[in-house]
Amino acid sequence: MKVTIVGAGSAGLSTAIAVRSVFKNADVTILERAKESETPGLGVALLPYAIQMINVQGFPAYKDSFLPISRVTEVFAGPTKTGEVLRDTRMQDVVYSGVKRATLLTFLREAVQRSGARIEYEADVSEERVRREQASVDLLVGADGAGSVVRGVFADKFGPRGRDAKSRFAWLELSGAPLDRFLFGYMYVGARGLIRVTAYPYSRQQSTAIVTHSVGWEKHLDEPDMLDGEGYISDRGMTELNEVFSVGLGGRRLTGKSRWRRFKATHCEHAAFDNVALVGDAYATLHYETGWGTSVAIQESSILGHALARGKGLRDSLETYDTKCTGLSHGAVTATAKAMREIDGQSAKFFQMGAAKFLKLGTA
Ligand SMILES: Cc1cc2nc3c(=O)[nH]c(=O)nc-3n(C[C@H](O)[C@H](O)[C@H](O)COP(=O)(O)OP(=O)(O)OC[C@H]3O[C@@H](n4cnc5c(N)ncnc54)[C@H](O)[C@@H]3O)c2cc1C
Repeated sequence: MKVTIVGAGSAGLSTAIAVRSVFKNADVTILERAKESETPGLGVALLPYAIQMINVQGFPAYKDSFLPISRVTEVFAGPTKTGEVLRDTRMQDVVYSGVKRATLLTFLREAVQRSGARIEYEADVSEERVRREQASVDLLVGADGAGSVVRGVFADKFGPRGRDAKSRFAWLELSGAPLDRFLFGYMYVGARGLIRVTAYPYSRQQSTAIVTHSVGWEKHLDEPDMLDGEGYISDRGMTELNEVFSVGLGGRRLTGKSRWRRFKATHCEHAAFDNVALVGDAYATLHYETGWGTSVAIQESSILGHALARGKGLRDSLETYDTKCTGLSHGAVTATAKAMREIDGQSAKFFQMGAAKFLKLGTA
């Protein structure tokens, strides 16, 4: 059995491991456009079932790389009329674990190598290559993320639908006193509106922070001195973000390098047809605020593995995968739409209610 997987993120790597665990002699190649040394992204939070699935692959050497995040969550909102921030606490339903994305991918790459699959780096797969691979292999898997070329080539079969968020986000680091919990902060500034930060730890010392701004901020944040020559947030821009959040973050500082990006939610009607399957963000791009994207990608690869193990032929397996995947994704896609709606609507809510009532809503 010959299998080509496009993309060596969590979805592609987990899929290679799943396929090789079912077909011990399968010839599995992952084509990845990045260099082996490039791993974008900082820390991600994983759901308990994803940690369990990873542990099954024998993750003991990396055990200490997963940091259980306290279920107690801190929230702050401001400024109040006195210029202060109000604080509150909430409880998460589940215990997430934080992990550095590079560490997770290193483990998964090692597991791929142990499984006998190959990874070819610096292989940027074009539309033409996608068609060629589909014609020459038994199974082609598109695990090429939110902007999937595989999904684009077979758009008539997968039926993708997309929606852009109005807000934009930047993925940064948070330095200073370590966090052991999620921290959500909401600051309403003058005529611009709401800007928010979501921070969480991914090791005992390191935390990641995602800053999301409402549309009213866009013009200001795109002013020439707020961006550097390459379009990343400039030193001036970082200073201003730190000024806005300084009281709420309790002396911690936003650091790192990021552009402002707009989240696009894409969700396909089908996860597979003939001999092609989509896994991870290529199939359904889940909003970062759900904290589910990586876990669901790992889960989908496991579902594909189980479907292939049915032994009733590839077409039957992919039909099963399609049915299970579309069922599974329903809740996650709904949560993504809800997160987008809520975030895009929070600035107006905060303006109407003020910090205290906004915090009482409990959705903040
Ligand atoms: C700010 C932010 C915070 C997030 N936080 C969390 C979190 O806390 N928890 C969580 O679970 N999820 C989180 N996510 C979501 C998570 O990052 C994604 O859901 C997850 O990375 C999806 O994995 P993937 O393998 O499907 O896609 P990706 O990780 O995007 O991997 C796709 C791979 O395909 C490669 N590729 C793309 N096109 C081609 C091509 N043409 N040829 C060859 N290779 C190609 C890319 O280089 C990449 O390596 C967050 C996302 C963002 C943006």
